Amino acid sequence: MAGHRPGRVVIGEAELRARVAELGRAIARDYAGKEPVLVGVLQGAFMFMADLVRAIPIDLATDFISLSSYEGGTKSSGQVRLVSDLSIPIAGRHVLIVEDIVDTGLTLEYLRRSLEARSPRSVRVCALADKASHRQVETRLDYVGFAIPDVYVVGYGFDYEGLYRNLPHIAALEDA
Ligand code: 5GP
Repeated sequence: MAGHRPGRVVIGEAELRARVAELGRAIARDYAGKEPVLVGVLQGAFMFMADLVRAIPIDLATDFISLSSYEGGTKSSGQVRLVSDLSIPIAGRHVLIVEDIVDTGLTLEYLRRSLEARSPRSVRVCALADKASHRQVETRLDYVGFAIPDVYVVGYGFDYEGLYRNLPHIAALEDA
């Protein structure tokens, strides 16, 4: 896309693999026997979700939800919209939200409220990346892959205007 390209590698493939394996082990330990529902937040979390569930060797269900707040740019619009909903009921289930990155926290808090209204047994959050310096609302993260600095990142599911999700690592978006 004109003007911006993936540049400096922020988190490499080997580092991603190792951390996802650690998260998987922790989640497997905490959720053994609970048959959790892992809810991946589309589109950004699709690659993380695919790798994470393979690192969790317990019985679990998966589902996806699609939210939109960025409308194509690099700044949050602050307005979250439900684009497509879960396909299974979660009442009485242990839900683990699988998010790509938490920035202002607005998307996650909107999602948490929406899921908690459906009477799940529990709702916890696993975020691949945490950009804590941008937080506008307080939000609790139960599992975090990486704390990342205040740069716009692409790759490993993260896009810029629909591109670069397919990179196997996470890179900073830079001026071309
Ligand atoms: P929040 O509502 O916490 O501000 O934003 C969360 C969503 O914004 C994430 O799920 C992600 O889709 C998007 N986002 C936040 N920071 C970045 C970033 O650095 N790169 C990309 N590609 N998306 C981001």
